[in-house]
Amino acid sequence: MRVGQVASATDTGRKRRRNEDSLVVRPPLFAVADGMGGAQAGEIASRLAAEALGETGGGATAEEHVAELVQEANRRVYRRSHEDATASGMGTTVTVALVGETDVVLGHVGDSRAYRFRDGKLEQLTADHNLVQELVRDGKLTPEEAEAHPQRSVITRAVGTDPDVDVDVQRIAAEPGDLFLLCSDGLTDMVADADIERIVADSDGDLQGAADELVALANNRGGVDNITVVLFELAGDEAEQTLADVAPPPDEAAVDDDDEDTLTELDAVPVLAGGPPPEAPPRRRRGLYLLGAALLVLLAVAALTAWEYLS
Ligand code: MN
Repeated sequence: MRVGQVASATDTGRKRRRNEDSLVVRPPLFAVADGMGGAQAGEIASRLAAEALGETGGGATAEEHVAELVQEANRRVYRRSHEDATASGMGTTVTVALVGETDVVLGHVGDSRAYRFRDGKLEQLTADHNLVQELVRDGKLTPEEAEAHPQRSVITRAVGTDPDVDVDVQRIAAEPGDLFLLCSDGLTDMVADADIERIVADSDGDLQGAADELVALANNRGGVDNITVVLFELAGDEAEQTLADVAPPPDEAAVDDDDEDTLTELDAVPVLAGGPPPEAPPRRRRGLYLLGAALLVLLAVAALTAWEYLS
């Protein structure tokens, strides 16, 4: 199945100092990884995993291939955490999608998510490996209790914390026109599925616009965590590939350039309960800012010219 439009966005959010998420956009392979650990370990973990996923691996079937990619990511993160004392105990989520002839194979560990958008409906494909979600599945917590639970970010499975990892692998039947969304919990903790569905539906085929809008909405609602979104569309083989369909250059293993020291910063659990509602300033489009800036520059030039002419 041919990959059509591709879009991605990653953002530090409003509360964290660093972006510990990484992403892979290397059609037909896509992934998000959400790292955790003290100091810069979370960044290292998600980046190592993204690098491992971006390489070719073995496996006779697509399922084996995807499982092996995640296992290799696991080995690399685990090894580094034992070589480097500052990276001890680090780990990362991994949600990876590999597009095949008639389907998409997913590999998944942690609480990042994969969704499929088809016929206007958003469907979550992965199950969170998350303490609170497991309590909900066991009937020990209601979904409402889970939403405000202080330990909602505690994951029960991660890549890199043990010598081996149990990977959820599933094959998803795909059709031309299907849209797949991979994201970190920084999106889904802030933006409900119904809102994601509406934004994707209203994007009118502009996937990058949808990805940017999802990140902006997560930030407007508090942005307590790093936010990462990868969107890709499946096109029919009969469709001619147009210039607009060509994927943008891969934006892999995205990390912040800022190198501030975060010696004792631990991966804080975002607590949403009881806080004041985040202010929601009106969101402006980047284009408007650019237009405003251009007008200001024009005005300044005109004023300077007039001043020089008059004086
Ligand atoms: Mn996160």
